[in-house]
Amino acid sequence: MMNLLRRNDLRRIAVLVLCLAFALAAVALADEQIDRYAEVFDPSQDAGRLTARFLQLTTRSDDKSGDATILISPDGFVMMIDAGNPSTYPDIDRALKSLGITRIDYLVASHPHVDHIGGFAQLIYNYDIGAVYTSEVEYPTSHYNNYMRAIEETQVPHIILAEGDSFMFGGHVLVEVFHPAPGIEYYQGYPENSTQFVNNLSLAMKLTYGESSFLFCGDLYTAAERDLVARHGERLKSGVVKVNHHGANTSSTKRFRDAVDPQVAVMMHDAIADLMTYRSWQRMGAQTFVTSIDGAVLVSTAGDGEYFILTQFDRNSGLLN
Ligand SMILES: [Zn+2]
Repeated sequence: MMNLLRRNDLRRIAVLVLCLAFALAAVALADEQIDRYAEVFDPSQDAGRLTARFLQLTTRSDDKSGDATILISPDGFVMMIDAGNPSTYPDIDRALKSLGITRIDYLVASHPHVDHIGGFAQLIYNYDIGAVYTSEVEYPTSHYNNYMRAIEETQVPHIILAEGDSFMFGGHVLVEVFHPAPGIEYYQGYPENSTQFVNNLSLAMKLTYGESSFLFCGDLYTAAERDLVARHGERLKSGVVKVNHHGANTSSTKRFRDAVDPQVAVMMHDAIADLMTYRSWQRMGAQTFVTSIDGAVLVSTAGDGEYFILTQFDRNSGLLN
């Protein structure tokens, strides 16, 4: 009798230990991030689609990492809009190499701040560049001068864009420029205290492929957003938006959000810049992503107004949902 009881107790303990081991293993598995970098940067499904890959950059200095987006047209042309802080260049290089890209047909600078043009000089020296596209704003700093020198030395064409311009990205994607207006007036003492001035001169570009569209407006602040809505209104409506100024509360006015009315909003930043701004896009029905949480984000469309989305990481907590 005693032996039987003891055997039953032992069995019960063994079952408990096993359950505990399974539970611990489940917790360990849940905590382990599944990294889909290879899938996000796998170009094998890209043909016939317009794809945008919003990079997660990791700063290796005190500066913020910045913006970088790689777009591939349905016919295989490559556009890069912005290229992060100089210290993030290894991330940009890795992404391009993973995609098998050796030539960037359109290298676009939204504006000449270091967290947007930091990688330009290295890209221009290391990759085959079709042309560099910028606004006419000049910004005499060392990083700006470096990439202007790179353009000069490599004799890459430099195309200046302004409101009213449009061009084709490959044979199927129309690019329209909404901002800034031609003829920039610099104030006395420029570039001193020019952060807001330069941000408000960011290129605003809409890429349209059939019924699908993407809007990129760099680091525009509220004043320029209001101006943009007043001048272009309905034309700003886009399926996907790169959220202005990394999702900071300097930007994303209600008027601008209402005009764009996107299905997908992506913020590139090292953190959530402002929770209210994040929520404001989410509450209007946009699927909202932040590269600091979701990792790199792939948005791909066949031009039918539908968007396939793949993020590098799953979200561990539901706090942001
Ligand atoms: Zn920026």
